[in-house]
Amino acid sequence: MNPLPMFPPCSPESPTLDRPTTFEPSHYFCEKWNPDFTFNGRKCCSLPPLRGKRKRKLNRCSPQRTKKTYCEEMTQEQKEYSDAASKGKLGDLLYFLTEKIGQSGDQAYCTVNTGFLAHGRQIISTQENRLFIRSPDRCLNFGTDAMAAMLEWLGREIKIHFTGVQNINVRLMIGDVAAPRGGCLYGRSGRRGHSSHTSGQDADIGFILPKTNLHYPPTQFTRRLDLEANWWFLKKVFSNPYACIKIIFLDRHHIHLLAQYARNDPDWNTYRRFIRHMPGHQNHFHIRIGNGPGSPGCSPGFRPELESEDNADS
Ligand SMILES: [Zn+2]
Repeated sequence: MNPLPMFPPCSPESPTLDRPTTFEPSHYFCEKWNPDFTFNGRKCCSLPPLRGKRKRKLNRCSPQRTKKTYCEEMTQEQKEYSDAASKGKLGDLLYFLTEKIGQSGDQAYCTVNTGFLAHGRQIISTQENRLFIRSPDRCLNFGTDAMAAMLEWLGREIKIHFTGVQNINVRLMIGDVAAPRGGCLYGRSGRRGHSSHTSGQDADIGFILPKTNLHYPPTQFTRRLDLEANWWFLKKVFSNPYACIKIIFLDRHHIHLLAQYARNDPDWNTYRRFIRHMPGHQNHFHIRIGNGPGSPGCSPGFRPELESEDNADS
């Protein structure tokens, strides 16, 4: 088997390779890829969601995308990948994904709130990666190639780290990432489900649960945060060799517990700026990546304190 073409692991000193999306998409390109194109008034990027508690309630997806599953938006190319990857026909999936990064050009367009995703890569659960897709029937497990490679790598790191029979069901629970072509996601009550998650660069990930019940491993996010396991996991996320981390949203209660647990670890001082409180994150991490590998924050001068779930500048 060919050796993995690995990027060097990221450290706080790694040069950041994040780059802005440079390709100015044509109308034809946006019409082909952006599922909200018509609803946008035939503009490439959507209008940003309304801010503020009351106004957020008015945010809706286009009527065509007010639906429970997005599987029908998959392209033929995506279906073929999904089929081949789940049957193990592509060989080593991490090798495959690593080679694909950058080949399709830019994939995430506009901002995380107003964007769409070209050539989105489905995140696939296999024997190798300990990934668990929370709602596969909704088809919200699509990201950029860098996102797919990062999650594949993290899933394998979990398999390497959590050994022994008692840890056989420890897995990375993948919640919503993005629809096959990105765009607005429908939630409960007919409203928009997420402010972001439109461009394949945001992922909701469950907490790592060591010594999971062998007979009934959880199938939903849970609030229990094992500090040792999840601090280990966060360090892996920040140092993954595929995608720089812009921000991780988490509830302030959990951040406080992590701060106490990791206060003597020098990495805490480096990473803490990029772990921010966001309401509604008591049972999962919301991980936002940039366009390439590199140090946390992705670009010099990035200010994590300005990043929000409905962010107009990312
Ligand atoms: Zn999220």
